[in-house]
Amino acid sequence: MPKEWMKPEAAARILQSGGVVAIPTETVYGLAGDCFNVKALAKIFEAKGRPTFDPLILHIASLEEIERLASVFPRAARTLAEKFWPGPLTMVLPKRPEVPDLATSSLPTAAIRFPVHPVAQEIIRLAGVPLAAPSANLFKHVSPTTAEHVAEQLEGRIDGIVDGGACTVGVESTIVSFAGDVPTLLRPGAITLEMLQETIGDVRVKESTSKPGQAMAAPGMMDSHYKPRVPLFYGKIPEGAVLPRHTARIAFGKTEGPVQATVNLSSSGNLLEATANLYAHMHTLDTSENELILVDEIPMEGLGRALNDRLTRASIKTWPF
Ligand code: AMP
Ligand code: MG
Repeated sequence: MPKEWMKPEAAARILQSGGVVAIPTETVYGLAGDCFNVKALAKIFEAKGRPTFDPLILHIASLEEIERLASVFPRAARTLAEKFWPGPLTMVLPKRPEVPDLATSSLPTAAIRFPVHPVAQEIIRLAGVPLAAPSANLFKHVSPTTAEHVAEQLEGRIDGIVDGGACTVGVESTIVSFAGDVPTLLRPGAITLEMLQETIGDVRVKESTSKPGQAMAAPGMMDSHYKPRVPLFYGKIPEGAVLPRHTARIAFGKTEGPVQATVNLSSSGNLLEATANLYAHMHTLDTSENELILVDEIPMEGLGRALNDRLTRASIKTWPF
C-alpha cells in the first residue's frame, strides 16, 4: 500500500504550530519538533515511548544558529564544525538558558548537529527554528533508515512523515562532548575517532553506561538498545551450541560458514557500505519466520567501532538455545 508522504512545506507549518514530523537525515530518520516548544518536545517523548531522562539532539541549518543554543563554542569545537559540518557529527556544548530543560534532560549542556541532508536543511530553514529530533523509532528499537521503516513503527502516533530516500550513512551521528576538559567521544559514528584525533588531537573515549533514572551522558550508551524483536546474537557462538532451525545470518564479506548467509552487509567487506546497510538488514530479518539472527564479526577499526557499538547493544547477552 503506498504511503502518503508529507511535503517539506507542510512539515514546516506543522512544526511551527507545535506538531511532530519524521524527517530524513543522512544518519537515520529523525522525529522532529520545535526545540523551544515544550509541548512539541513532550509529544516526541510520548510518540517514541522514550523516557525524559534521555536527552534530544538539536538540529540547525546554519552555523549562526548555534548561537541560539550554545553559550560557549570552544575553539576545538569550531575546528570540528569547520571540517565536519554539515555532517554526521553532534557536539555537546554548554546550553543557553532559553533551551528547555526537557530537551536536555536538565543537563547544563545541549547536543547540537548540523545535518547535511538537503531535505533536513530545507525543513529546518522553512520552520525557522532549530529542531529537536531523536531517531524516529520506538524507544530501544532499531532506528529507521527509510520512510517506510518510520511508518512501521510510528504511523498514527505522529503528525507526518517526509520521505527523503534511504539514509546514506545509516547509523546515528558521532557524539563528542565538550562538557569537560578534554573532548570526549560519547557515541561512535561515521566521523571516526581517528578523524577526530587527526583534526583536534586529544580525544578521550567514554566507556561508561548510565544508571536508570539518571540523566545520561549519551543514551545510545545504554546496554540494551537498537534491538530487533527477533533475538540477535553478535559474538562468538558458544562451543557445542545448537542453532535453531530458522537462523538468519547477516554476513560481512564472505558468505560461507556454519549458517548460509541470508544477506550481506558488504560483499567486498567495505565498512561504509556495511554501515549504510546494517539497520535495513536488521529490519528485513526481523520477521516471525526467524528464530535467531546471527551477525558476522566486524573489525574494530574506523567505522567498525560504530558498527561494533550498535551490534553489541542490539545483541542478546546470553545464548538462549
Ligand atoms: P537518538 O537521536 O535517539 O539517537 O538520541 C539522541 C542522542 O543525543 C542520545 O544518544 C544522547 O546521548 C545524545 N544527547 C542529547 N543531549 C545530550 C547531552 N546534553 N549530553 C550528552 N548527550 C546528549
Ligand atoms: Mg535513538
